[in-house]
Amino acid sequence: MENSFVIFIILTFSITLSAAYFLIRYSKRLQKKIGFDYKQVVYQDIKEDGTLTRPLFARQYGLVGKPDFIIEENGHLIPVEYKPTSQEIYSSHIGQLMAYCFLVEEIYGLKPPYGKLQLKDHVEQIEYSESAREEVIRILQHIREDLEKENVLPNHQEKTRCLSCMRQEICGESKLD
Ligand code: SF4
Repeated sequence: MENSFVIFIILTFSITLSAAYFLIRYSKRLQKKIGFDYKQVVYQDIKEDGTLTRPLFARQYGLVGKPDFIIEENGHLIPVEYKPTSQEIYSSHIGQLMAYCFLVEEIYGLKPPYGKLQLKDHVEQIEYSESAREEVIRILQHIREDLEKENVLPNHQEKTRCLSCMRQEICGESKLD
């Protein structure tokens, strides 16, 4: 009984160490690929020791998120999102990045002038304007209103989204039907 307990502890420890090792390697590879100096990083979703970082949480707006990185650049805190398989920008990328800019502003009290999207082979810089901030607030309000409704219809016609959706079985509006 004691022996199996020791084996269990050793196994758990080894699995944790391997997971941490691969997470650190992944994180370092990512930094190398993105091309900024590690000294610029003030936040990353996977820490150096392989543990996951707490998400950013703007309580007042009920918004939670984890940008891949936040870097310090020219005196600003800039969220960076990594999309390694995308050659081009999609509106969902911009929406996500603007939400991260909003979170940085709310949490750190510093408004980023832009966010960065690292695509497959180039970086795009997207301005975080006052209207982008207002749009994030508007969407959050919209989501809160939808959450109170009994039934909300999908706002897209994309089968690919439904393919990986966990609500596919119960949705009733799946585009795969
Ligand atoms: S299955 Fe339903 S909830 Fe999921 S993405 Fe498709 S339409 Fe949206």
